[in-house]
Amino acid sequence: MVAAVLAECGSTGAWSDGGIVRGYFPRPAARGTEREAFRAAWRRFTGDPCPYRVAVRTVADVDWHARWRRDVRAERVTPRLWVAPPAAPPPEEDLAAGGAVIWIEPGEGFGTGSHPTTRALLRWLDREARLGRVLDVGTGSGVLALAALARGARLALALDLDPRALANAAANRDLNRPAGLALVQGSLSAVAPAARFDCVLANLDMRTLPGLIDGLAAHCEEGGRVGVAGVLAAERWELVERAGAAGLALLDESADPDPSGEGTWWSGWFTPARRD
Ligand code: SAH
Repeated sequence: MVAAVLAECGSTGAWSDGGIVRGYFPRPAARGTEREAFRAAWRRFTGDPCPYRVAVRTVADVDWHARWRRDVRAERVTPRLWVAPPAAPPPEEDLAAGGAVIWIEPGEGFGTGSHPTTRALLRWLDREARLGRVLDVGTGSGVLALAALARGARLALALDLDPRALANAAANRDLNRPAGLALVQGSLSAVAPAARFDCVLANLDMRTLPGLIDGLAAHCEEGGRVGVAGVLAAERWELVERAGAAGLALLDESADPDPSGEGTWWSGWFTPARRD
C-alpha cells in the first residue's frame, strides 16, 4: 500500500527493506513538500490519516550501469569453462591448467556468466560431446553461442530481438574471434523452416517459451538437444508439459536458487522423443 501511494506521488521505484519502505523520486521537489504530498495521497487512497513516519533525503545520483560493470568478475562455470570480462581475467594458473575463457564485455546484453539460468545451460554445453550446429534464441551477450563454438560446435546461429543485445554480442564476437558465428536480429521466424540444429538453446521466460517451444523442437535434429532456461521452479510442470506436447523428452534438469535468495530457477535439457 505504501509503495502504491509512493507511485501515486511520482516515485519511479519502491521496495521494502526491514520494515522500511523506500521510494525513489527523480529530482527533489520544493523542500518539505514531499512529506505533505505523501500524507495527502495516503488520505485520498485509504480515507485514513497516514499512520507512518515519513522521512525525505536527497541522495547522490548513481550510475548503476557503471557500478555493475565495475563489479562484474570472472566466473568459473565448470572446472574448464570460464566467463570473464576483459578487465578481470581468471587467475593465470587456472588457465594454464587448460581452461577455456569466454570473454564478455559487460554491456546491454544479458549473460555475463553469473546468472543461474545462463550457468545451467553452459554446464550442459560443456558436457555435450557433439554440438555440431547450434541455434541460440535470445542470445543476449552471445555467451551461449560463443561457449558452444569454444566447445567444438561448427556453427552457431544466434538470434535476438533487441538491437542493443546484438551490439553487445557483436563486440563479444570481436573479443573471442570464433569461427562460424552468425548474429541475426529476429526470432525463430528468421530461421528457414527446414533448418535443423544439433542443439537449440533458449534462455527466455514463461511469457515467451510456451509460444516458441514447438518451433524450438521443430528445429532440433533427431537425437539432438534442446536446452531451456528462464523458468521458475513453480512453472516447471507447465513447461515440461508443453515441451512434451511439442515432442520433447526431458533428459536432465537443474534447480538453482536465485542469488537474491528469492525463488529458484528451473532449467531443462531435452531431446526429441523417438517417433517409432
Ligand atoms: N542467452 C543469454 C541471454 C538470455 S536473456 C544467456 O543465456 O545468458 C534473453 C534474451 O532474449 C534477451 O537478450 C532478449 O532480448 C531476447 N529475447 C526475448 N524474447 C525473444 C524472442 N522471442 N526471440 C528472440 N530473442 C528474444
